[in-house]
Amino acid sequence: MGRMEQVAFNNKRGSGEELGFFRSLWAGYSRDQAVREAGTSGGLVTQLITDMMENGEIDAALVTGFCENHPWRARPVVVHTPAGVRAHAQSKYTMSAQNAALRDLGKKERVALVGLPCQIAGLRKAQAGGWGLEPDIVLAIGLFCLSNFLPEGTEYMIREVFGVNLEDVERVAYREGEFPGSIVVESKDGSRKSLPYPEAKQHLRPFRPYRCMVCYDWSSELADVSVGDLWSDPEREAHSCAVARSRRGEEILLSAGSAETIHLERIQAHLVTDNPGFRYKKRGNAAFIRHVRQHGLPCPDYPGVTCS
Ligand SMILES: Cc1cc2nc3c(=O)[nH]c(=O)nc-3n(C[C@H](O)[C@H](O)[C@H](O)COP(=O)(O)OP(=O)(O)OC[C@H]3O[C@@H](n4cnc5c(N)ncnc54)[C@H](O)[C@@H]3O)c2cc1C
Ligand code: SF4
Repeated sequence: MGRMEQVAFNNKRGSGEELGFFRSLWAGYSRDQAVREAGTSGGLVTQLITDMMENGEIDAALVTGFCENHPWRARPVVVHTPAGVRAHAQSKYTMSAQNAALRDLGKKERVALVGLPCQIAGLRKAQAGGWGLEPDIVLAIGLFCLSNFLPEGTEYMIREVFGVNLEDVERVAYREGEFPGSIVVESKDGSRKSLPYPEAKQHLRPFRPYRCMVCYDWSSELADVSVGDLWSDPEREAHSCAVARSRRGEEILLSAGSAETIHLERIQAHLVTDNPGFRYKKRGNAAFIRHVRQHGLPCPDYPGVTCS
C-alpha cells in the first residue's frame, strides 16, 4: 500500500500501524433525524455527501442502489441531487461493481464516491498508475468491511429463511429500522418478513467469496475518510465511526461538524479497533493469506503480511 498511500495522502503510516495512515478518529451521526434513521449506523456518509452537494462542492455522487428486476441485488448508481443521495442510504451486504460506474461519470464532473476497501484500492491504483480517470474525484469515502457476500446469500435467505419466492419480492433492505436494524423483505402482496441484522448475518456468512477471505484491509486504508459502525461502545448506538485520513477528508468532516449538520466527537483508537472486523482481517485473514501463499494460490499483494 506504500506507494498508493503516498499518492492518496502524501504520507505513510507509522510502523505497526494497522489502521493505516490517519489524522484523526471520530464518532458521529447526522443531526437530521430522518437521515440518521435511514442510514446504516449514524447516517454520517449520507449527510457528508448531501452537504457537499448542497454546498456546491460536487456535481455528482457514486453510491449504491438496487437492481430494478432483482431488487435484492446491488448496483452502482450515479446521483446528482441531495434527494438522490438520501434515497440510496444504507449498506447493501452484497456485491456491487462500484468502479465500473466511473465510466458513466461526465468528463470533469466533481464527484464524491462511496466504496469498499477493495474498490477504493482499485481507484487509488488507477490514480497512481495515471490511467486518465476523467471525473474529478473530490472525496473517496471508504466503508469498513469484514466481508461481502455473493448475491446467492440473499437469495438463500429470501427463499429458505423467509420462505418467499424470488419473483414475489418487491423490496429488500439490509439494515432497516432501529439500530442495528434488520434485513427486511417486502413481497408484492404487501406482506413483510424481517430478521435482526446480527442474526441475518449468520445466514449470509457461508456465502463469503474467496477474495474476501484473502483480504487484509478492513478500515478502507486508502480512503479520504473511512466510515463504519461503532460496535465497540454500547453507550453510542446509532453512531458512525469515522477515520479522517487525507487533509481534505478531515476538512470535510470538520466543516460538517462546524455547520452542525453532523454531531462529531473525538475517540481513541481502541474504540475503532475493538471491532470484530478488525480482528478477523488483521489476525484471521492474515493467517489465511500466509497459508494460501505457501500453497501458491492467488492472493492480492498486501505488504506486511509475510510468510514468516
Ligand atoms: C459489505 C459491507 C461490509 C461491511 N462491514 C463492516 C464491518 O465489518 N464493520 C463495520 O463497522 N462496518 C462495516 N460496514 C459499514 C457499515 O455497514 C456502514 O456502511 C457504515 O457504518 C456507514 O454507515 P452510515 O450510516 O454512516 O452510512 P449511510 O448513510 O447508511 O451510507 C452508506 C453509503 O454506502 C453506500 N453503500 C451501500 N452498500 C454498499 C456496497 N455494497 N458497496 C459500496 N457502497 C455501498 C450507500 O449507497 C450509501 O451511500 C460494511 C458495509 C458493507 C456494505
Ligand atoms: S472483504 Fe475485502 S475484498 Fe471483500 S468486499 Fe470487503 S474489501 Fe472487498
